[in-house]
Amino acid sequence: MAGFLGGSLHLASEFDAKNILLSQLLESEERYRSVITSMTEGVVLQLADGQITTCNASSERIIGLTPEQMMGRRSINVDWRTVQEDGSPFPCQQHPAMITLRTGKPVSNVVMGIHKSDKTLTWISINSQPLFQMNQSQPYGVVTTFADITERKQAEEMLRNQAQRDRLIAATDGLTQVANRRCFDEQLQSEWQRLNQGQNLLSLIMLDVDYFKRYNDCYGHQAGDICLVKVASSAAQAVKRSSDLFARYGGEEFAAILPNTDADGAIAVAESIREAIRDLGIPHEQSDVSAIVTVSMGIATVIPTAEISPDELIALADQALYDAKRQGRDRYRSANQMTAPDFNAVVE
Ligand code: GH3
Ligand code: MG
Ligand code: MG
Repeated sequence: MAGFLGGSLHLASEFDAKNILLSQLLESEERYRSVITSMTEGVVLQLADGQITTCNASSERIIGLTPEQMMGRRSINVDWRTVQEDGSPFPCQQHPAMITLRTGKPVSNVVMGIHKSDKTLTWISINSQPLFQMNQSQPYGVVTTFADITERKQAEEMLRNQAQRDRLIAATDGLTQVANRRCFDEQLQSEWQRLNQGQNLLSLIMLDVDYFKRYNDCYGHQAGDICLVKVASSAAQAVKRSSDLFARYGGEEFAAILPNTDADGAIAVAESIREAIRDLGIPHEQSDVSAIVTVSMGIATVIPTAEISPDELIALADQALYDAKRQGRDRYRSANQMTAPDFNAVVE
């Protein structure tokens, strides 16, 4: 009898212990559920086939889908458009969850842009963590967490745009809107360094408006300013290659840096500049050479080396410009100097 009673007591305590364990388990699960629910980050659980089985409210809010739209979905067949930071499409197989499922390794801080159906763009930073069953090397699932970083990205973008605007303003001449002297100096230095690796040619055209003092005296300083704007804009359009730079060198002097351009190429550019300014047909009744505004140009071409400096190229082009002035204005002269260190200008 005692044995019978003892047995039922044993069964009862086993039953209680199971119940306690179960309620502890439920409590623990409830605790984790409330932690996940209260998180501002999105949390998504996917199984090995990529199907979403759990997601919290934040994930729905950030991604902009309802629970029904989320559940059963796979990252690789979503119908919103995802992009990388450079704007190119986000490759499905590069999704952190997909990588983690493939490799069994966690992935952190991957940035993804989501173009939602309401035409807004949301940026998220994603982490993924594999889920393993005991003694298994292949994950049975993956937990992905992601934070909405849209505001941070917008602030960064604003700063980038502002910095770009500041850089552009710092490099632009206030009157003529072509590159300024500072930009010219920097560009010449950097082209010199870039081309100083082999037998690369660098040409420079210096340009000066003829009898411009007389123009100001005759038509007024304001008209002089307008004239400079027109001359700069037309000449800049005649300097076409993306690697070229047309800049205001100072006053009524301008310069064109022409990388990888030989003397003949530079002459062709000078001719089109001259033609463009002629086409403007700006009256200049005080000029001794023409009834309209004209320019004189000096051209120099060198192979940049460590033995010579950019200043020497400028001096060569300046000398050629001086000769063009001396020989009557409204023309160009070329200092065909191709090799260093024999550096005497040969003026046509
Ligand atoms: P040359 O044919 O020998 O080049 O004669 P020039 O009169 O053009 O040359 P000079 O150097 O004697 O005069 C340049 C003039 O350019 C004087 C200066 O007031 C004028 N100038 C320089 N910068 C500006 C500007 O920004 N606006 C105006 N309106 N005039 C300017
Ligand atoms: Mg001058
Ligand atoms: Mg002048």
